[in-house]
Amino acid sequence: MKVAMIGAGIAGLSCARELVSSSISVDIFEKSRGPSGRMSTRRTQNGSVDHGAQYFTARDDRFIQEVQKWIQADIAAVWKPKLKVYEAGVWRDSQSQEIRYVGTPNMSSPGKHLAKDLSIQHETTISQLERKDGKWHLRCNENREITASYDFIVLAIPAPQASALTKDVDARVFDTISPAQMSACWTMMANLPNQIAADFDAAFINQEIISWICQNGSKTMRQGNIWTVHANPAWSQDHVELSKEDAQAQLVKCLKSLGFNCQGAEISMHRWRYASGGLKNSIGFLALPDIGLGLCGDWLNGGRVEGAWLSGLEMALAVKQIKR
Ligand SMILES: Cc1cc2nc3c(=O)[nH]c(=O)nc-3n(C[C@H](O)[C@H](O)[C@H](O)COP(=O)(O)OP(=O)(O)OC[C@H]3O[C@@H](n4cnc5c(N)ncnc54)[C@H](O)[C@@H]3O)c2cc1C
Repeated sequence: MKVAMIGAGIAGLSCARELVSSSISVDIFEKSRGPSGRMSTRRTQNGSVDHGAQYFTARDDRFIQEVQKWIQADIAAVWKPKLKVYEAGVWRDSQSQEIRYVGTPNMSSPGKHLAKDLSIQHETTISQLERKDGKWHLRCNENREITASYDFIVLAIPAPQASALTKDVDARVFDTISPAQMSACWTMMANLPNQIAADFDAAFINQEIISWICQNGSKTMRQGNIWTVHANPAWSQDHVELSKEDAQAQLVKCLKSLGFNCQGAEISMHRWRYASGGLKNSIGFLALPDIGLGLCGDWLNGGRVEGAWLSGLEMALAVKQIKR
């Protein structure tokens, strides 16, 4: 059996690893230059900074075991931030007892680790799927021909991107994707040379444009004074078409109102168009053996890194069943 995997985020990588461990051949196609998707890291002039997923949690035994392997391989560590909550003008300590993990030296490390020895074609954006004589054929945007054909195709990409690729494929795919709602996230990475050390590492901000702020240097194996600032999903979605400059101006204004000194700030912006959300009622993954197609990703499984990894794993177990 030959499988095509669209997307090298955590879900696609987890699925591909499990398939390859059972000697199933997998070709991965990824539109970005590297693996990891939304669990990734941006290089700025002031150093690297996690601009997508900030940390992850582990509740399911299978993911707990996986994270232990990551810790042993030195690509993840427990992160114990001094956490605050800001609401209605008042700062308080967070009471959260959650165990939080981060990738080391940065959030893209687990993804890079999972990607090792897999066949990945980067900078390849799949633009069309066609099923002919029981096989899948793919086209990409980059003016390159994909000559191989596939028995099974897995779309490990956010719901709106999966929707664009499967418009006329099958009513069951449409019915699964259409209720999914995903929101954007405007992200600001700010080096704040004049901000004196804050008495917290990260904070959940309520009822403001900003919903999360984190000093990247507080995480294991990071340095520097770069803060990652996330705008809340509703505001980000409502303002998804703002220019970077306008989004930055609004986030800086909010950051100042939280007491930060933004004088001399060096700022980069990133817009995640499909950052969070998905199906209200999780189904884990979707496998359609009769047409050789599957969907996996965080949006089918409660969101978050753990949900993505588990969705990929369960998708792979379903494909292995089909092969038997
Ligand atoms: C700002 C932000 C903050 C977050 N914070 C947290 C957090 O603190 N904790 C947590 O657990 N989770 C967090 N998350 C969510 C977490 O990052 C995701 O749940 C998880 O990384 C999703 O993995 P995935 O594999 O399902 O999807 P993705 O990571 O989106 O992977 C999909 C991949 O497919 C590629 N792709 C898309 N379309 C195509 C195409 N047509 N052809 C080829 N490739 C394609 C993309 O480039 C991408 O690499 C956050 C996400 C964001 C954006």
